Amino acid sequence: MSEIVTRIAPSPTGYMHIGTARTALFNWLYARGRGGKFLLRVEDTDRGRSNSEATRAIFRGMEWLGLHFDGDPVFQADQAARHVEIAHHLLTQGKAYKCFSSQEEIETFRDNARKEGRSTLFRSPWRHTAASNHPDRPFVIRIKAPQNGKTIIKDKVQGDITIRNDQIDDMVLLRADGTPVYMLAVVVDDHDMGVTHVIRGDDHLNNAARQMLIYYAMEWPLPTYAHVPLIFGEDGKKLSKRTGATSLEDYQQMGYPASGMRNYLSRLGWSHGNAEFFTDKMAKDWFDLSGIGRSPARLDFKKLKNLCGQHIAKTSDAALLHELSEYCKVIRKDISDEELKSKIGPALYCIKEHAKTYIELLEKSHFCLTERPIHPDEKAASLLTGDALQMIKTLTPQLQNATWTREDLEVICKIVTVTFNTSFGKLAGPLRAVIAGKTSTPSVFDMMVVLGKKETIARLKDVEHKIWHVEK
Ligand code: GLU
Repeated sequence: MSEIVTRIAPSPTGYMHIGTARTALFNWLYARGRGGKFLLRVEDTDRGRSNSEATRAIFRGMEWLGLHFDGDPVFQADQAARHVEIAHHLLTQGKAYKCFSSQEEIETFRDNARKEGRSTLFRSPWRHTAASNHPDRPFVIRIKAPQNGKTIIKDKVQGDITIRNDQIDDMVLLRADGTPVYMLAVVVDDHDMGVTHVIRGDDHLNNAARQMLIYYAMEWPLPTYAHVPLIFGEDGKKLSKRTGATSLEDYQQMGYPASGMRNYLSRLGWSHGNAEFFTDKMAKDWFDLSGIGRSPARLDFKKLKNLCGQHIAKTSDAALLHELSEYCKVIRKDISDEELKSKIGPALYCIKEHAKTYIELLEKSHFCLTERPIHPDEKAASLLTGDALQMIKTLTPQLQNATWTREDLEVICKIVTVTFNTSFGKLAGPLRAVIAGKTSTPSVFDMMVVLGKKETIARLKDVEHKIWHVEK
């Protein structure tokens, strides 16, 4: 079998839509799982903004999601001469013709058709006119579409879609100003790039039948089509900014790891048995067009978070530090690489199992990023009274002699709570407040181990001094 070539062909709209990201992922998985190629084409014909911020947003999105494409990106606008060449080739072959009908004439044709109850599909009077009878005025080039029979899109997701040819018009290939239309550009580019599989949103299904006519006219082999249902929001309606984040960059900002996003997005419309959590390797091995469902997938943030949490937990500390560093470079510029390495690095072992996003990971590492004196939040401060302070005051000197292993710390704390005839819970809350300034933190023992003896005791003493001072 010849090599599989897929592509993602985004239009630069200013940001990378989550649906485009999912389509890119499907194409990437399909190619990568079969030793094929995955290409990128920027469909910039409408805007001609190849170097613009909108195009950069696409590159950034692809880079962040880890979807590396082969070779150089293709810019559709740069291929215009080739698109024109193909239109002229079809013209000389008699498979396309010059149409001199003005916009007004077309409108009149449609009005009359409407009045007479006929199809309003424009039938150009120039389709069969010999060149010798052509006037000297502007023209468009139209394809000679078949008028009988039917066109069948053999779609790997939607099944066979049959369209009667008498419902397809002679589509314009070149406009009166000589510029090629989008439909022609897509087909020529896909052919020239050697694309074997067109996997894209089902909003393009209608285009497929018309695009196929160009393949037939050029006698080019058809690609395999797979039109994937769109993504809906959590409310079951078409995804919009109101119902869920539509831009891939929003997800990056929310701190989702790219590996978790890939896992989640691949499950959005595709399934492999009951598998939910999987690695890239598994997804590449498993991904197939037959696993893509026919109904629209719904965004489910709970599931996204859950999967992302699993990915964070399974990432090695070194890789996680690298990912956090990338995240901080874009989103949390206040945290330096040095801080990440020296302060968060040692804490990862005890926090990564409990964080679903990088934001949560950084929240949970607050205790090691923050500096003395710790300012407890209101809830934490409310725990630092009476018995609690006495317990901490009793605990501090005992910690001076500790060997600072988790076991040792557990025993010492236990003894203090026994002395006060209470449970560990009564000591844990105030300790969290003293060490981290918060009530929800990693385990107190983990925090003590991560911070080390000197820093922990200093924090305990800070509170003692401050509170005794206040209470006097
Ligand atoms: N440029 C189109 C889009 O962004 C995709 C065209 C295609 O995949 O054929 O929706």
